Amino acid sequence: MGEGSDLILDGTDNFEIRYLINDIAVKYNKPWVYGGVIGSNGMTMTIIPNQTPCLRCVFEAAPSPGSADTCETAGVLGPVVNIIASMQATEAIKILSGKPETINKELVQIDVWENTYRRVKIAPLLGKVDCPCCKHRKFEWIDGEFGSQTTSLCGRNAVQISNRTPNKLKFEDMAAQLKTLGDVSFNKFMLKFNAEDCEFTVFPDGRAIIKGTSDIDRAKTLYARYIGH
Ligand SMILES: [Zn+2]
Repeated sequence: MGEGSDLILDGTDNFEIRYLINDIAVKYNKPWVYGGVIGSNGMTMTIIPNQTPCLRCVFEAAPSPGSADTCETAGVLGPVVNIIASMQATEAIKILSGKPETINKELVQIDVWENTYRRVKIAPLLGKVDCPCCKHRKFEWIDGEFGSQTTSLCGRNAVQISNRTPNKLKFEDMAAQLKTLGDVSFNKFMLKFNAEDCEFTVFPDGRAIIKGTSDIDRAKTLYARYIGH
């Protein structure tokens, strides 16, 4: 994916893929433009490997599953998508037309509901933080050291997803985020809810069994959509 590209534009919806993109971009020295939206809030930054901080210089680790809102639990206000996408497209035009000196060198955060526009200076982080990716060239997401492991549970029309870096989930917080979907029940051993014709059983270490599909890609998408990461 990375080797033959001039530029990578992020239109993804989960952190696991973004960290993988970051590894690929740094490894193959390709510029990439990060963009993300949640609720009425959008964020973008432009990464030119070795010239600007990479995603892991700024956010070393992805938020653990269940700890952050996802598009499904918090929703997305349509107009903020247009704004972030337009900013990303502008950055792409600058880079592809050979004007990298004009790129956005800050982390830009916009909240269209709160009417706020924040710019965070990130340039000083380059080379100053002990970044595993661009400083030590350890590509842990490409190498599969992070991210999720999946197993299709034979004959049960279910997929189990577990994280390589287990995290203790806070079921109370997750239940509050997921309650817009309908009934969410939990005890100290598991949390259960239904979405998109699938039954989710989530365990405190982030492992989940998604019943109602045997398609691993779909299960990973559902996990990212409702549980996070
Ligand atoms: Zn870095």
